[in-house]
Amino acid sequence: MTRKFHVIGNWKLHHFMEDSRKLARAVLDGSRQYLDSMVVGVSPVHTTLWAVHGELSDRPENFWLVGQNAYHENEGAFTGAVSYRHLKDAGCDGAIVGHSERRRIFRESDDEIMAQLESAIRAQLHVIYCIGETGEEREAGKTLDVIERQLGEALRHVPPSGRQAIKFIVAYEPVWAIGTGVNATPEQAQEVHAAIREIIAGRWTSEEADRVPILYGGSLKPSNAREIFSMPDVDGGLVGGASLKADTFLDLVRIASEVAGK
Ligand code: PEP
Repeated sequence: MTRKFHVIGNWKLHHFMEDSRKLARAVLDGSRQYLDSMVVGVSPVHTTLWAVHGELSDRPENFWLVGQNAYHENEGAFTGAVSYRHLKDAGCDGAIVGHSERRRIFRESDDEIMAQLESAIRAQLHVIYCIGETGEEREAGKTLDVIERQLGEALRHVPPSGRQAIKFIVAYEPVWAIGTGVNATPEQAQEVHAAIREIIAGRWTSEEADRVPILYGGSLKPSNAREIFSMPDVDGGLVGGASLKADTFLDLVRIASEVAGK
């Protein structure tokens, strides 16, 4: 298999400076033994990024500092905004784009998210692009339509040169599973992940589709991760709540490393 497992912790709006540095250090130290074969990342609050970058100055290539989100413009009169260029400047290796909390709470439109995707790629950041259906959409049998729309649009915005120069990673995050304690079953995750890979193969090439890591996100925890990670098209996880404590997150990293050779 040409794909590496990725386990990325999205800290959202949690942890101040000192706790962020300590957690980042603990995660780096605890995951170092696995980093030959997988990628581990942490995604702290913007204001702590530079300090965490300093704390992680000895991190190897497979340990990523990830920015949570940014505005599509690089600079200008945009009070309160942070750009992807600024994330790169603060030491980030990658960025999350299109998280459902941005779509839902901050009302970011599909157009804004596509502009962000382009901007993140231009800033030479690895992109973790999030997609997923709401509970109502799943109940109405529209899951794969939503995935096709959110992903198809994004695949058009990644230039062929970008496919090599950056890593484009998809995170399937069913909205109904995020922060709810209710995870997708391994079978539900596999069905959507396989569809995602097929969509990528149709728009790009099957070799490229085979290389794109597809992460699952939504109430992942040590008790459900092994089964989900064992699915053939699941290549790791984007983790919210369970990434806020080093022990729990490192359990997920260990499980991923054990499953990676599946
Ligand atoms: C997320 O917000 O990306 C996420 C997966 O959250 P949680 O693990 O808390 O469901």
